[in-house]
This record gives sequence, C-alpha cells and structure tokens, in this order.
Amino acid sequence: AAADHTPALVIGSGYGGAVAALRLGEAGIPTTVLEMGALWNRQGPDGRVFCPTTAPDHRSMWFRTRTEAPLATFLWLDVVNKDITPYPGVLDRVRFDAMSVYVGRGVGGGSLVNGGMAVTPDRDYFARVLPHADAAAMYDTYFPRARRTLGVNAIDPAWFESTEWYRFSRISRAHAARTGLATTFVPNVYDFDHMRREAEGTAPRSALAGEVIYGNNHGKRTLDRTYLAAALGTGNVTIETLHRARALRPLPGGGYVVTADRIDTTGRTVATREISCRRLFLAAGSLGTTELLLRARDTGTLPDLSEHIGSGWGPNGNVMTGRANHLWDTVGERQSTMPVLGIDDRANPDNPVFAEIAPLPTGLEHWISLYLAITRTPERGTLTYDAATDGVRLHWTPDQSRASTASAKRLFDRVNARNATVYRYDLFGGNRAFADDFTYHPLGGCVLGLATDAYGAVRGAPGVWVTDGALVPGSIGVNPFLTITALAERAMDRALAEQPS
Ligand code: FAD
Repeated sequence: AAADHTPALVIGSGYGGAVAALRLGEAGIPTTVLEMGALWNRQGPDGRVFCPTTAPDHRSMWFRTRTEAPLATFLWLDVVNKDITPYPGVLDRVRFDAMSVYVGRGVGGGSLVNGGMAVTPDRDYFARVLPHADAAAMYDTYFPRARRTLGVNAIDPAWFESTEWYRFSRISRAHAARTGLATTFVPNVYDFDHMRREAEGTAPRSALAGEVIYGNNHGKRTLDRTYLAAALGTGNVTIETLHRARALRPLPGGGYVVTADRIDTTGRTVATREISCRRLFLAAGSLGTTELLLRARDTGTLPDLSEHIGSGWGPNGNVMTGRANHLWDTVGERQSTMPVLGIDDRANPDNPVFAEIAPLPTGLEHWISLYLAITRTPERGTLTYDAATDGVRLHWTPDQSRASTASAKRLFDRVNARNATVYRYDLFGGNRAFADDFTYHPLGGCVLGLATDAYGAVRGAPGVWVTDGALVPGSIGVNPFLTITALAERAMDRALAEQPS
C-alpha cells in the first residue's frame, strides 16, 4: 500500500512532542503527531473525563486488570488497588526486573498524570550533567520560554500559610527547620487561583479531591491545554491517537518511513499504517524513543546509529520514604495533591538532595509525612534490544539503587533524630522504609552530545531529532519536565534554523 506522507512527523505527545508540534506548526510545516494513548476530552457516564483516584476504573491504567498504584499498601492492607477492565487508561507502569517506570499515556503524555512541579535545575549541576547544552542560552532563553508557555505559576504564600490543605507541607517544613534544613517553594502548572476557588467551594474540586496520578479533571494546565492547543491552533498540526509507532526505515533519497499500529480500546491492532516524512521528531519518552532507535539500529534499518543509544539511563535518583509523626503533629485530613514545597539540601556538598514534600490524600488523619527524594548518583543503566521479544530490556540491578537510598536515608535519619520520629514501614510493601524500585522520572537512552549532536539531531540518521527525556543522562537533580521542555525548545530552534522548509 502507498504510504501516507507528511512533511514532519512527531512520535509522542508529551513535553518533547508538544514543543516540536507547536514550533513546526508555527513555522508553517504540515505536521502529524502519532500518540499511542487516547485523547482525554470526553466525559464518561459519570460526567468525568478522568476517574476518581479513590474509585479507579478502566480509565486509570494502560491495559490492566488491576491498578498498580505506587503506594501498594497502607497499614499493610492492599486497600489502594482495585480490579479494572483493560482499556487504554492514562497511567502506565512499565515493569523491568529491578525497576518499574511510571509514564503517562495519552495526548499530553506525562503532563496528564504528573504532579505539575516545574523546577529549574541548579545551573552548576545542569552544566555538569549536560555540558553540550550551553547553559547561558538555556537559562537566559529556553527555561524562561518553557515556564511561560507551560503556564507555570506559584502559590500565594499567605494562602499557603493559612489553608488546611497544605498543613502537611507546613508540618514537614517545621521538622526540616528544626533539623537545620531549608525548604523552598516549588512552582507548578496547576492554576493556584482555581485551587483557591476549590477551597472556597466556588470551583469544582480536582487537586483538592485527590486527583493526580489518574488525571486531573480541573485546574491543571496539561499540555493539551497549552502547547498542543496552540499547535492545533496553527492549523498545520494533526494528532493521530491510538497509533503506536513500531519501526523506522530510511527512504532512498532522504526522509523516513514510520510503521505504526493503530489499536482499538481493547488493545487489538486494527490497522498497520506506513507514514513517510522528510523530518522525524522522536518524543516517545526516554523508554519509547530509545526503544525505537535500538530496534532500528539492531534490526539493521538504521545501522549507522551511535553505539551510545541505550546508555546513560537513570531513574533521576528517585527514592520515596514516609515518616511517622507524633500524635500532636497532625498532617490534616485534607491534602492538596499538588506539591508546593521541597526540602532543599542541594547545596550540601556531602549529600545533595532535593526532597519534595508529597501529599498522601487518604481523607483520614494518618500522621504520615511522605517525600519523593531526588538524589544524585552516578549510577546508570543500559537499555538493550531483545530480538526474542522485539522489545527492550533495562539493565539495572537492585545494587544500583543503593547509593540513592543511602543518600535519602542520610537526610531523613537526621530529620528523624532531631524530631524523635521514625520511618513508616507499611507503605511500599515488603516492610521497607524506602521505595527505590520505581521511578516517575525515567531519563536518558539517547544522550545529548553522545547519541545525538549538541542539539538533539540523531547521529547516523540525518533529519531525525530527539526532543524528549531520552536526551538527559539519567539525572538532573530536580523534577525533570521543565528541563525537557527547555531542551526541546532549544532543539527546535536549531532544527528550524538549519532546514527551513
Ligand atoms: P512523555 O511525557 O512520557 O511523553 C511520551 C509520549 O509518547 C506519551 O504520551 C506516550 O504515550 C507516547 N509514546 C510512547 N511510545 C510511543 C510509540 N511507540 N508510538 C506513539 N506514541 C508513543 N516531572 C516533573 O517535572 N514534575 C512533576 O511534578 C512530576 N510528577 C510526576 C508524577 C508522575 C506520577 C509521573 C509518572 C511523572 C512525573 N513527572 C514529573 C515526570 C514527567 O511527567 C516526565 O519527566 C515527562 O512527562 C517526560 O516527558 P517526555 O516528553 O520525555 O515524555
């Protein structure tokens, strides 16, 4: 069958894909975006687009018969997870041997399920991790552009101090202060004016109704409302949903053909399409982009791709932990799902950690302080192509998480010692105080300056660009989407300057 043709093809509609789509569309270049997930814009019979966190249904997870929430248990009871019908739901958990990777699926990628924290990394660490991305241009131009276009805003400090919804953050701040640790406010893409109206009862509740990992029905400026809405507004961009890109091959004389399976809501492949393009932008996320490139290299369709493809992968040093507070230190029955404060010990040369103060909105007083620590470790994993399954394997051992856990433990041992508190062992299964076997922040696999040039153009495949988290080598020290967005902006400036249409 003759291939469909589009001048520019973007695979994935998360941060990297949304930036590519907008900038291509603005440049007047007809662009098709392939997204394996669904478009989340239609209300179900319950009047909601996304399902409630407390009563997850088929909409919650990507083709599962039971939900797999990060907090498996609570008081050792499996109260969190529920049986569901398989469906292209919004949150996926990709399981490898010693590491699970949570990702968003749908138009908007991770923006649909994440905590919205838009954090600018330390400039020193950024320059060390990404020496090929000129820091001056990033901090002067691309981070500000990313913050603006994503709609980043900050909580009103006076409201923060007074609202019951952030009592959990204030308690953790007090315990940090007693330990001599600083905290810092974290900007977010959740609309804080909306959140205030939620608290006042004049806007429908979302962050104040426990919504986050299975989607926010209100309030969050997800990519489908920012970058992707603007991209569609150019009139040059089309998004094809439930299309999973599988293979890439070059066309004689330039350009590429992408093979994509179109699936239905039961997961069955209903059609296979071939789409040709002049320029190809890979934005399927760290795992998805790396898989496409590894398959293309190792099955021989793009044999000149770099040997570095698959290397430099990491979980951004993610470690979750919970502390048990004293009975007089209540965290509140009411908790907003959007984190706004972090323990900021990044400047500590012996143990730099940024620990976001995370909510645990169960609707009950539970006296738990929960944290997602972002530690810095040089440990990196490798993704390889597995011909037997036609998929990828992640080479990451439990040992490789030890340094991160030790780093988080050093920080929170201090907090516990100073406040005479202890860890909770009932949250993650297996009687563990630390969860270091899952990540929200998969990074790397097609590292900037190694598998690509200094901007994201893939070595050995002219006209192919990577614009997503695969560019970042495993660690960035803070929550990553702002960095991914800014790097994508920089890559697109370059891509459009080099090859005007
Ligand atoms: P993604 O956003 O993952 O987008 C990739 C897209 O490509 C997806 O939509 C996927 O369905 C699609 N895709 C994949 N493979 C294919 C294929 N073969 N064909 C077609 N489409 C494909 N980061 C922060 O900075 N702040 C936070 O507060 C935060 N909280 C988080 C909370 C959770 C629960 C999770 C899971 C993540 C969180 N993150 C947070 C991480 C952040 O969401 C990711 O770093 C970010 O989404 C990565 O952007 P990306 O463009 O690399 O890929």
